[in-house]
Amino acid sequence: MEKPVLLEAKHLVKEFPLVNGRKKQTVHAVSDVSLTIRQGETLALVGESGCGKSTLGRTLIRLLPATSGTVEFEGKDITSMSSREFAPYRRQMQIIFQDPYASLNPRMTLRQIIGEPLETYHTAASRQELTKQVGALMDLVGIPREFMNRYPHQFSGGQRQRIGIARAIALEPKLIVCDEPVSALDVSIQSQVLNLLKDLQEKRGLTYLFISHDLGVVRFIADRVCVMFLGMVCETGPTNQLYERPLHPYTRFLLEAIPQPDPNLRSQEKQLLSGEIPSPVNPPSGCRFHTRCPYAKEICSSQTPPCTDRGERQVYCHFPLA
Ligand code: SF4
Repeated sequence: MEKPVLLEAKHLVKEFPLVNGRKKQTVHAVSDVSLTIRQGETLALVGESGCGKSTLGRTLIRLLPATSGTVEFEGKDITSMSSREFAPYRRQMQIIFQDPYASLNPRMTLRQIIGEPLETYHTAASRQELTKQVGALMDLVGIPREFMNRYPHQFSGGQRQRIGIARAIALEPKLIVCDEPVSALDVSIQSQVLNLLKDLQEKRGLTYLFISHDLGVVRFIADRVCVMFLGMVCETGPTNQLYERPLHPYTRFLLEAIPQPDPNLRSQEKQLLSGEIPSPVNPPSGCRFHTRCPYAKEICSSQTPPCTDRGERQVYCHFPLA
């Protein structure tokens, strides 16, 4: 049975003004994105850097205001709420950043960093209670309690990411946006942090929006994948289906670009993408991928491809792959 929808974005748009000398321009960071995130699942957002995935993640949880379109959280439109109406929803949606060092205040101890959201929402009746709650969160993420009065610089990158995770789960959110949470870590540490995220998801019924450019990491952690190119969705679907048989030409190229450890397979002919990624200031008309797509036909440059359902998958292409 399908899990209930936790968050649903409909025709979401995020644009930024850009002043270039005397010229006023617009960055089309996210354009007409519709997607759903189901309770307890991990949906990965993938795509090359600059494709708008981080902006989309922040807009979905209202860290950035949407230009147009809606985001519903548990069926309520959070985009049109006042700050006051939105306040109870803020604690339900948290974020883990790529660089745990930059996101932790270097002048605060671990107790203050993890305890801050608890203090803001008055979840503890006393100082002792707060210390107890912080200690329990440290246990959960595997940081010894005796380090409670240490500062961020006294920890390794992996430990700092664990601190960021403890802070993010402090208020028992339902949804966590994980924005490239392991890209800054060594490979050996990456798997420990990914396993911790999986473990916490199981224990606490968390839902993740997992933003990454690393398709190996995404295959390990995600239930479903949403592929983005230049601010638009190309394709979404269950992870195994999408990796085994991509329907969108861009997904296929992303998957073919994964380094192949087997030298016999390495020599197989691969089609590589030509040309630069177009600018989000002046994106191509029609399908935004048409300037790089070897399957492009005339219609691709003039008409935006509609969303086609293929079983559990959605693909935005005039000529999906077989
Ligand atoms: Fe390629 Fe056309 Fe499909 Fe775009 S719509 S991915 S240009 S075939």
